[in-house]
Amino acid sequence: MARRKYIKAEHSKKLEKEMLTCTFCGFCKSVCPYFEDNEWDPSVARGKVILAYGLARREIPADESVVQRLAQCTTCKDCERRCPSNIKVVDIVESARADLVAAGCVLPAHQRIIENVKNTKNPYGETQPVDLGVPIREAEIGYFVGCTARYRQKEIATHAISLLRKLEVDFTLIDEVCCGSTLQRVGAKERDFVRLMKANVNAAKKLKVKKLLFTCAGCLRMFKEQYPKYLEVPFEVEHLVQFLAKQNLKLRSFPKRIAYHDPCHMGRHLKIYDEPRKVISMIPEATLVEFAETKETARCCGGGGGVRAAEPQAAQRIASRRVKAASEIADLLVSACPFCVSNLRLGNELIKVDIEIKDIAEVVDDLLVT
Ligand code: SF4
Ligand code: SF4
Repeated sequence: MARRKYIKAEHSKKLEKEMLTCTFCGFCKSVCPYFEDNEWDPSVARGKVILAYGLARREIPADESVVQRLAQCTTCKDCERRCPSNIKVVDIVESARADLVAAGCVLPAHQRIIENVKNTKNPYGETQPVDLGVPIREAEIGYFVGCTARYRQKEIATHAISLLRKLEVDFTLIDEVCCGSTLQRVGAKERDFVRLMKANVNAAKKLKVKKLLFTCAGCLRMFKEQYPKYLEVPFEVEHLVQFLAKQNLKLRSFPKRIAYHDPCHMGRHLKIYDEPRKVISMIPEATLVEFAETKETARCCGGGGGVRAAEPQAAQRIASRRVKAASEIADLLVSACPFCVSNLRLGNELIKVDIEIKDIAEVVDDLLVT
């Protein structure tokens, strides 16, 4: 990585005025999962805004510490909720990251993700196809598996497929590639993630898909919020749990306390709060319990925005706090994102509290009466 290099900062420049509206009030400190972890001011939103501003004005060189600090953001958006100036912190962080990557200033872990997606079409660099036993054919409903469920949390994909079959849904998988989320989060070139967007939309179009279902909050957010900024998406997109909430599910009783963790990309980013709770409420004898910080105030699992790849120990510590809070109120911690589930499980490896951690697809499939 280059030292004391002043970069062009084309992306951040566009947000310069927005950055200047930061009053440095520090409200963002109270919510930032990263600040809670390392208590360093440059890691909180206002610190990142100052760094991004300095890069844009060519007042701060893109040295290693700047690259590292700007990577310390899970893109959880909690600071934006708290910010009295309504600053779009996530856009600022991602713009600064894009400028840094364009200038060749990138953490090795993020460079690896960029290379992996380029070479293998998934951020994990997996080269072997994973057969999920679903033929790819024309169907009105498609299931977009996502790289984490396909390559790291396969049981979530197989449970989603199993429950769609039990519900007799006529569905297909699509010839998918990475949704592009990881690339956009870490600041990769726009043309690289737009290429993936086009490939995925064309793959679904080719099969005449009218509705595409997701089990990953990050993939869903990409299709719902980011894809339409770059291309036409001629089909509906929905999380599997939204689809399930509209079904008349017959579930076996499960007399346990269940806490639901809102994934940031589904909650604060897309405002999907009710449907997962509705599905959990359909489970006879189960009690839905809420974290003190829930829905729009939900704490982040700590894994998103490239943090898990760059600083896995920080991601684990952040997750462990959420798991500990869950263990004080629930027997089972459920989420609706393979990446959150995976990171929360990693968090529990640190503290080893007595709680099960599952994805909603696993829970519903296990309890579905056929
Ligand atoms: S809450 Fe908003 S205005 Fe206040 S310091 Fe944080 S980013 Fe700046
Ligand atoms: S988006 Fe989340 S992790 Fe990033 S600065 Fe804001 S609160 Fe911190």
